[in-house]
Amino acid sequence: MVDILADFLESWTIEKSSELYRVAEWSGGYFRVSDKGDMLVQPSPKYPDRAVSLPEIVEGLKDRGLDMPVLLRIENILDAQIAELNETFIAAMKNLGYQGNFMGAYPIKVNQQKQVIDAMVHYGAPYHHGLEAGSKAELIAAMGMMVDKEAPLICNGYKDEEFIDLALHAVKLGFRCILVVEMPSELPLIIERSRVIKVNPVLGVRIKLSTQGGGHWAESGGERSIFGLNTTQLIHAVDLLKEEGMLDCLQMVHYHLGSQISNIRQIRTAVGEACRVYAGLVKEGAGMRYLDLGGGLAVDYDGSQSNFLSSRNYTLNEYCTDITEAVMTTLDEEEIAHPTIITETGRALVAYYSVLLFNVLDKTIFEPDSLPEKLPEDCPPQLLNMLESLENLSIRNLQETLNDAIYYRDEVRQLFNRGQITLRERSLAENLFWTILNSILKTGRELKNAPAEIHEIERLLSDIYYCNFSLFQSLPDSWAIDQLFPVMPIHRLHEKPTRNAIIADITCDCDGKIDRFVDRFGAKRFLPLHDLNGSEEYYLGVFLVGAYQETLGDLHNLLGDTNVVTVSLHENGKYDFSGELEGDTVADILSYVEYDPKRLLMKFRKTAETAVKEGRISPLERKEVMQAYEAGLRGYTYFER
Ligand SMILES: *Cc1c(COP(=O)(O)O)cnc(C)c1O
Repeated sequence: MVDILADFLESWTIEKSSELYRVAEWSGGYFRVSDKGDMLVQPSPKYPDRAVSLPEIVEGLKDRGLDMPVLLRIENILDAQIAELNETFIAAMKNLGYQGNFMGAYPIKVNQQKQVIDAMVHYGAPYHHGLEAGSKAELIAAMGMMVDKEAPLICNGYKDEEFIDLALHAVKLGFRCILVVEMPSELPLIIERSRVIKVNPVLGVRIKLSTQGGGHWAESGGERSIFGLNTTQLIHAVDLLKEEGMLDCLQMVHYHLGSQISNIRQIRTAVGEACRVYAGLVKEGAGMRYLDLGGGLAVDYDGSQSNFLSSRNYTLNEYCTDITEAVMTTLDEEEIAHPTIITETGRALVAYYSVLLFNVLDKTIFEPDSLPEKLPEDCPPQLLNMLESLENLSIRNLQETLNDAIYYRDEVRQLFNRGQITLRERSLAENLFWTILNSILKTGRELKNAPAEIHEIERLLSDIYYCNFSLFQSLPDSWAIDQLFPVMPIHRLHEKPTRNAIIADITCDCDGKIDRFVDRFGAKRFLPLHDLNGSEEYYLGVFLVGAYQETLGDLHNLLGDTNVVTVSLHENGKYDFSGELEGDTVADILSYVEYDPKRLLMKFRKTAETAVKEGRISPLERKEVMQAYEAGLRGYTYFER
């Protein structure tokens, strides 16, 4: 009764939901909670009047027959992010009196979808925002899509003759194509092929810095990085180019510290070191013009603005200002002209643009049954002791009661294993145990500074919400490197969430779960969610999944690509579905792993016919069986209502 009264008095608001899920902190101004308690997406913080409700979009998809899970892409966000990166660099350079300029090169590997590259080419045009290719396939995509001859086309990655030839042809066609030497062995081949193709290449060198990036990808930079030349190899390269009379072709220094660099200090230190190398190459007589800092601009997934792995301790403005300032300081000292600064920013450009949406299918709760009025007469003493602990529980003996409960429960389990306690008695003991834990939790919540054990119990008692998606397909970094993503309900945000839960996917893998969630201080182990309302659907969204998640995913349990829908938001607050891709069918998935769906069907028809012959099913039943099998092949790989 007291609880209900307290809940009633403490009325819930959408502001409380925003705060609870830390929306303002991670949303980049693209998402917010509406007065009605729905999650909204808006094309930019500048246009709150163009916000569109995510639940409304979900309804629209349902009407069109598109089932959950759905990957929703918001096209306008790419536009806004490209503009923001470029404008911020331009402003910082202007402020500081920088003599060179800025150019972006979007690394295709971060999200290779044609739609993304289209957007880069289109929205990037005013800024000459280019592309970065790390393989032949990516270069071929880039050459087919790019139109702007001013924009950089950076070729990184391990290069064979075919890769080199393609890049040299791009130079011949007039593209600002820069071949980055990643390995000493590539240089003689590039020189040879450029003679054959009769074109002067524009060359960059990828250097190994002593500065380490930190974070998940610490070894992408530093001396042990896989790619790049150390200083000895760099000098050999310079000597070779000198001998060949091609030193003027060497125009760029490139490095990549790794992705999601959360600490600005590492970024600054690396720029300083790279500038010294740049200056050294100028003095050697190379035709230096470009300084390419690679990727690394981090996304604040947890909104903590800290140097946690899922965050960053700097703003975009600080990033641009610090880099520009560091380049100026070092090169002014060396009396060398300011280069064009290039960044290969990927993650920060595309992360915000996709949201994974799914419905909750079911839940498990860890609430004990109500206890019997009286324990049985002949009940083992351990059970009586547990009951006594429960009755004596107070705010002063939480820890002691917890210890007792664990002690007696373990004793009961041992007695059961020795055959001295019945199944019913054990069940009663387990029930007593969970009842005690629940009571400890209720009592402990009243404390201002709850002991750590309380949080642990809270985790033990949190529900499991089973959700219609595959972690391995749609959120591979959550599984592989414990990447945090913001997860929250997309509706009912005017209601108080009354449950704590972790999220399980529909693969039958025990790793297929999310049990770390964004919080002010590191990750918390459960997520407050609303109770399920009978048959009414409950939808969750996983936000900021636009970078790296789509093609890294796999077919675990043969759950395939989800449906993908693109919306573009208009000035009048309306939107349309500008793209729609149906997810994999079961037949699609089976053919990826070498089954031929037609042959499967044929074989299965034989199995069914044999069953008719053996009198197990009637011919009419055979028809039903075959219809079910065929419908299954055509169907979506996810749970369908
Ligand atoms: C992966 C990669 C990038 C992209 O890094 P982000 O942190 O996503 O911006 C840029 N350059 C190179 C060479 C890369 O390998």
